[in-house]
Amino acid sequence: MAKTIWVLIELENGKPVRSSLEVLGKAAKLGRAEAIVMGAAAAEVAPTLGEYGAEKVYAHAEAIYDTYLTLPAVETVSALLKQHQPDLLLLATTYEMRDIAARLNVRNNMGLITDTTDLAFDSEGLKVTVPWGGENVVTATHPQQGTGIVLVRPKAFAVEHYEGRSAEVEMLNTSISAASQSIKVLESIEVESTGPALEDASVVVGGGRGLGKAENFRLVEDLATALGGAPGATRAIVDAGWLPYSYQVGQTGKTVKPTLYVAAGISGAIQHLAGMKGSKYIVAINKDENAPIFSVADLGIIGDALTILPKLTEEVKKRKA
Ligand SMILES: Cc1cc2nc3c(=O)[nH]c(=O)nc-3n(C[C@H](O)[C@H](O)[C@H](O)COP(=O)(O)OP(=O)(O)OC[C@H]3O[C@@H](n4cnc5c(N)ncnc54)[C@H](O)[C@@H]3O)c2cc1C
Repeated sequence: MAKTIWVLIELENGKPVRSSLEVLGKAAKLGRAEAIVMGAAAAEVAPTLGEYGAEKVYAHAEAIYDTYLTLPAVETVSALLKQHQPDLLLLATTYEMRDIAARLNVRNNMGLITDTTDLAFDSEGLKVTVPWGGENVVTATHPQQGTGIVLVRPKAFAVEHYEGRSAEVEMLNTSISAASQSIKVLESIEVESTGPALEDASVVVGGGRGLGKAENFRLVEDLATALGGAPGATRAIVDAGWLPYSYQVGQTGKTVKPTLYVAAGISGAIQHLAGMKGSKYIVAINKDENAPIFSVADLGIIGDALTILPKLTEEVKKRKA
């Protein structure tokens, strides 16, 4: 019998986030995909999820989910899980979804597998692929007693389009307990940025400690702007306070998969590679010819990033003109 796979859809400014749609597309390939969407915009979003693979959508159009942090969602999804017992619940790895997944797991004793890049059912149950540093990959089997819960890495799958598919929408009208309304969102601050978002950019220029000091990150930004891309960073320079956390690429930062990733003054630690080695072409600039970044680079430039970056930017601008 076809497996029923649920996907929790995250909304941002009233729209489904891309990583949720990626997971929904994968769910539709594994079995019958059903989505859950909650928030003020849920009624509007629900019917559109068919074209991304959902056959059914549970929607709760209630602003409480936007005003309070994760607990209302955990309460609603827990109740739905008890009622319907799907085979699997998938969530994309974002801050909000990680929090919801952890709480659902404990509250419902489900068994959570995180950081997944692929999954498939076979005769033993659900086989889940999890990268484990460097080239090592672990394949875990979820025993599938009750509903399994899996957090999927963004960019592991492409967004799929199921043209003409329309989802059956079930509007929920349950009330949310006072206990779940205890953590209120007081303020949301949008970080100002120009150019494409780091996760979506087709060109990313990443900078690391080899840039020497915070002011030199400007050289990375200049090249990113010239190429129409986005700047990214290693954890070393984010931890040093050069840049906000939103710039971090890697295991504990963002996963990027651009056509071109330029790594400047980056050693290539496995935790950094985890977030960018899926890039189509990698160009590395490093003073040390033995730097591990060269092992994943398509083009390696041994030299000083501080002199090479401005030259590259100048050349790109010249050619574009
Ligand atoms: C649990 C855990 C999670 C982590 N998560 C992440 C993560 O998500 N993302 C991440 O990035 N890191 C992460 N890290 C940290 C990671 O291990 C590395 O410490 C970090 O990536 C190193 O950053 P870096 O390459 O900027 O610095 P370094 O390792 O110090 O490398 C600097 C490089 O610059 C080169 N260089 C020096 N001067 C120049 C110059 N003038 N021109 C060109 N090259 C030059 C050097 O040869 C060197 O290779 C994590 C670590 C742990 C333990």
